[in-house]
Amino acid sequence: MKIKIDLFSDTKTRPSKAMLNAMVSADVGDEQAGEDPTTRTLEDKVAHLLGKEAALFVPSGTMCNQIAMAVHCKPGDEIIADKTAHIINFEAAGAAVIARAMIKPLDGINGVYTVDQAKEAIRSDFRHSPTSRMIAIEQTANLGGGTVWPLKLLQSIHGLARENNIIMHMDGARLLNAVVASGTSAANFSSTVDTVWIDLSKGLGCPVGGVLAGTKEFIREAWPWKQRLGGSMRQSGILAAAGIYALDHNIDRLEVDHANAGILAKGLAQISGINISEKTVDTNILLINVEKAKLTATQISAKLQQQGIRIGAINKNYMRAVTHLDVDKAGVIEAVDAFAKICESN
Ligand SMILES: *Cc1c(COP(=O)(O)O)cnc(C)c1O
Repeated sequence: MKIKIDLFSDTKTRPSKAMLNAMVSADVGDEQAGEDPTTRTLEDKVAHLLGKEAALFVPSGTMCNQIAMAVHCKPGDEIIADKTAHIINFEAAGAAVIARAMIKPLDGINGVYTVDQAKEAIRSDFRHSPTSRMIAIEQTANLGGGTVWPLKLLQSIHGLARENNIIMHMDGARLLNAVVASGTSAANFSSTVDTVWIDLSKGLGCPVGGVLAGTKEFIREAWPWKQRLGGSMRQSGILAAAGIYALDHNIDRLEVDHANAGILAKGLAQISGINISEKTVDTNILLINVEKAKLTATQISAKLQQQGIRIGAINKNYMRAVTHLDVDKAGVIEAVDAFAKICESN
């Protein structure tokens, strides 16, 4: 059965006609040589949006994290992150392999930890200990259910990092979702960290790419890592044009995705045996607790898929749904109806 309503992830979006048109007409050159004008425009645009001196276009968000960790850390350093972090769970142990750093997982709530937890995690200067080098936060917290880190909390953690001479890095894969949901500007969020990146291939709807930002000096150091990891490109303006289009057209509309996530949450919460996780839905990600349902998460997911609807099972008890620009309100309502029928007929 062809998938018609894909709530598996906001990575499932396809470039729109208008985005494809922008890509086709992009002015291009050799990016490795710094000669691709469209890529440079994208980098300038993102640096400006994030209030940083410079930015670098790379093929993926994962590469943004890997480059940042490699630049910031020496072998044997330690990175502090929430236990649900992408850098811990989904980057094939890149921190260990590439930066040769270890990551200390904190037991946060919904992917967000407290200043006290971060403070406790910082090592004292001791010959037997790793060196606390970097504090990483994920805005929004993906496995936490799209949770927004409030600006105040980030400012406090930033203060702590400064006092201890520790670098702060933001995995901003969905930073713009946090911006739209909270009304705090991207530059304000980014002012609490040394380095930050945004993903173009999530809610912004591009086929490829991430943009990493920081000081000019940081970007100068990031370049050899991009080259080393095979992230330098040629006529990347074709891809960068999609990014420029997305920044111009697809940020404000993230609000629609958040509203649809809200409708999904309300609808699913009516179904007996279904609980929408602990907290309200901040942005476009929804954790669905099916522990009390008669079917397991995997069974519900499989039955939905037979009807062309995709919502992934994280484990036996939890499913994750993500709204995005290729699923509209009617699609969300249809998904709720199908979900209800599956749960109620068993
Ligand atoms: C998707 C994601 C990444 C990785 O980005 P890719 O572009 O898929 O490599 C990193 N961090 C978070 C929080 C993500 O959601």
